[in-house]
Amino acid sequence: MSPKQKPPLIWVNVLLFLTSFALAVLVAPWYGFEFGYSMEHWIWLAITYSFCNLSITAGYHRLWSHKTYEAHWSLRLLFAIGGAFALQNSALHWSSDHRVHHKHVDNNDKDPYSAKQGFWYSHIGWMLRNYNQNTYTDYENCRDLQKDKIVMWQHKHYLALTLATNIGIPLALGIIYQDIVGMLLMVGIVRLVLSHHSTFFINSLAHIWGSQPYTDKNTARDNAVLAVFTFGEGYHNYHHIFENDYRNGIYWWQYDPTKWLIKSCSWLGLAHKLRVTPKFKVEKAKAKKALTTATNNIRMLPNAKYLNDALNAEFEALMSKLSDYYELKKQLVEAKKSDLAKKYERSVLLMRYQQLKQELDNQRRSWNTLVAQYA
Ligand SMILES: [Zn+2]
Ligand SMILES: [Zn+2]
Repeated sequence: MSPKQKPPLIWVNVLLFLTSFALAVLVAPWYGFEFGYSMEHWIWLAITYSFCNLSITAGYHRLWSHKTYEAHWSLRLLFAIGGAFALQNSALHWSSDHRVHHKHVDNNDKDPYSAKQGFWYSHIGWMLRNYNQNTYTDYENCRDLQKDKIVMWQHKHYLALTLATNIGIPLALGIIYQDIVGMLLMVGIVRLVLSHHSTFFINSLAHIWGSQPYTDKNTARDNAVLAVFTFGEGYHNYHHIFENDYRNGIYWWQYDPTKWLIKSCSWLGLAHKLRVTPKFKVEKAKAKKALTTATNNIRMLPNAKYLNDALNAEFEALMSKLSDYYELKKQLVEAKKSDLAKKYERSVLLMRYQQLKQELDNQRRSWNTLVAQYA
């Protein structure tokens, strides 16, 4: 095949995306104007849309692709059903693709949905043609998932599960609420199109639009607006550097319902071993990124050499204070676990800790003031 020749179209996908999109933007609104949708239609649209998206984000993505936590079989079963309902291929296939995406991010020859190929390609184009025909024969990058009986059961019965959910659920709701066409349109089609494109935005927009607080070594961006549509996956810059963290939005004020779902499941005993990145590593990455940005921005200034030295000295001072602080914090936690006889030692540690915390706060302030000038 010559480089200019495009691989053949995958007609099933082309027709599926085209038909569902046309039905959602043309037929569903027409039906609504003509016959009206009741509150039940909207409520079930919201429920099934959330079920599909959360099965992808909490299940396919954070559980299976990245192993950021462990889940009870009942939760895995729900995610497997919701993932088939979302019509995004089996969890095994999806995770295999996604692991390659992380490993070779932005590499046009290897990343299955490389953002460097443009918005259209990374959003949907990569699924319309047989670009990756030779890639997945044995899913060797997902050996661990092949031991998960639910993953393999879903992979084997994927087609039957997609038909049962995508036709069965809207049909059942249509019978219950006595509007089969309305439910097929809202819960069947509109839900599917919304769910598809909001997930696809993570591969396209989340690699194009937003900030890069942690790394600029890849195209991934943090974007609070996108986080709302993607159930928290908009914090994609953080995710690409710390992919083993069960959170994408790490601050309490960052909108990440997938993180809240996983945390709630852990309180119910349905999720275990939630992995988080040590704070030290996160702060270090952020400071390093700020240093790179500032270094680039001062290059042309007449006193670049002097500024560069000052920046590096300040960075080193911050790093050393940070590592002292987190080391002492660790000691303090360990000391708390040990017996009461060491009470005196603990109070000395605590005093030192408080002093160091104050010093670190000052160091952080001076660092932030410095890099803010050259951001
Ligand atoms: Zn990921
Ligand atoms: Zn990505």
